[in-house]
Amino acid sequence: MSRLRQDPESHLVGRIGWLRAAVLGANDGIISTASLIVGVAAAAATRSDVLIAGVAGLVAGAMSMAAGEYVSVSSQSDTEQADLARERKELRDSPGFELDELAEIYVQSGVERPLARQVAQQLMAKDALTAHARDELGISDVTTARPIQAALASAAMFSIGAAMPLLMVVVSPVNTLVPIVSGASLAFLALLGAIGAKAGGANILRATIRVTFWGALALLFTAGVGRLFGTVI
Ligand SMILES: [Zn+2]
Repeated sequence: MSRLRQDPESHLVGRIGWLRAAVLGANDGIISTASLIVGVAAAAATRSDVLIAGVAGLVAGAMSMAAGEYVSVSSQSDTEQADLARERKELRDSPGFELDELAEIYVQSGVERPLARQVAQQLMAKDALTAHARDELGISDVTTARPIQAALASAAMFSIGAAMPLLMVVVSPVNTLVPIVSGASLAFLALLGAIGAKAGGANILRATIRVTFWGALALLFTAGVGRLFGTVI
């Protein structure tokens, strides 16, 4: 099926899909791995304990992201394919009814009935399925759902995010591991939030504050848990 043209104003919105996925993946990688590292380090573990926990967290998180993304994108694609198959059958079995249906959609949008009917006829003469998919089902680009690519991209973005706090574990002295990993991770999060907001055309300050706040909360929480269990056991 052909890729439909979009009007220029919708370009930013079109970019939001993959951008959002990429930023979310990297965010997840930073927050979950940094929290894990800080939690284990706060329990007074050695550097190698912390590294093992961090690497395990990276692998587990990347696999989980890939699985989640694969399932979500596949089921979306299955739904779209089923809708399109049903529409194709309806177009074949009752073209007259389908013409009325499409014309009615344009009437509802404010087009006069005779013109709406003419528009529907001409669109259906060119590519009936594309016209119905777009204006009746709201599917404007069926070729975008690629589960394997989405899964690999999510896992890769998560791993890139997770690598940042892990790198900090390697380069910082053991006794200042918690503040250095926390501070650097919050800085990475803020930077990522700003990049995401800039590319998506959103408010940069608001996006940065939002992502940094949640990161700080996660770090505080796991540091508290780590300290609690570290002293108990
Ligand atoms: Zn239809």
